[in-house]
Amino acid sequence: MNSIDNRGNIITGTTAILVVSLILIVIFVVNSLNYIESENIDSIASDNFKYIIDDYNKNLEQLGRDSIAEETDKLYHAHKVKDSRKEIAKILNGKLKDVNAEYREKYGIDIRSEVVSVESTDTPWKVLFKVRVKADKDSQQFDGVLESNSSIEGLNDPLPYAMITAYNNINHDDKTIYYFESLAQYLLKHNAKSYESYILASSPMIIKKCPYDPYVHHGDGNTLKECLKNGYFHESRDGSCYLCRLEGKGTCPHYGMEVFIHPHTLITNETVSCVDHVIFHDRYNGKKLDENDINSLILDESHCKKYGLVYNGQQG
Ligand SMILES: [Zn+2]
Ligand SMILES: [Zn+2]
Repeated sequence: MNSIDNRGNIITGTTAILVVSLILIVIFVVNSLNYIESENIDSIASDNFKYIIDDYNKNLEQLGRDSIAEETDKLYHAHKVKDSRKEIAKILNGKLKDVNAEYREKYGIDIRSEVVSVESTDTPWKVLFKVRVKADKDSQQFDGVLESNSSIEGLNDPLPYAMITAYNNINHDDKTIYYFESLAQYLLKHNAKSYESYILASSPMIIKKCPYDPYVHHGDGNTLKECLKNGYFHESRDGSCYLCRLEGKGTCPHYGMEVFIHPHTLITNETVSCVDHVIFHDRYNGKKLDENDINSLILDESHCKKYGLVYNGQQG
């Protein structure tokens, strides 16, 4: 009895194992076939999906730049900027909300985005945006951080308006900022020597990168004259970056820029050097390059060296 029962159990057990194995093999084969088939369809669809994400990433450059420009425009209309990175991120988030709705309409893709950071970079001419993006379309998904560099060339210089508020007599046309007596008043408040030299000073408004590089050649021929005429900006470790300029910082830890403020004066006394980070932060003195020129720059020795100009002090 027992041996017959055992034999029966063995046969039943073996059959069960065989049946289960067979079912597993069938499932595996069917799945593999499905997988191969859907992979072909997916590769076409995912190319399209990838294109949409790339397209979205490309748009970030202009959207980021527009967001910075909007923040600067607020500053030019007497709005103080406390945290430029946070405020620009907020503006960009608003813009992306519209763009996401547009993409849903156009491509049937569901995008959720959030600006992670707005950062200064190792060049003063670019601002880095990082945006966390989650996207779904049919069964495809993207979840990652998109990065984009936006140029600040061609935007307005925020620093003068951040330092000397709009109601305090500062104005501009399409390319120059005019200080009237406000910059002299600002320097008086900061105990600068011969602050009167900066009555009627002006400075370039639009950020343009100086092409005369290396800068030490500014002393050659008409180079300085051309640079001043065009209102070019220069790279500078001591000068502040665009994002810190918005916050009214004359200097910052990031790689920044500097520009010459143009004095317009008969006074020849030693006074603050006319480089903007010196005027708005360091306030050390310089001398007129040419005492007989009413529009002469007033420069300290180290900036003369940087631009290849002869320091007036050396000539007596
Ligand atoms: Zn230059
Ligand atoms: Zn900075």
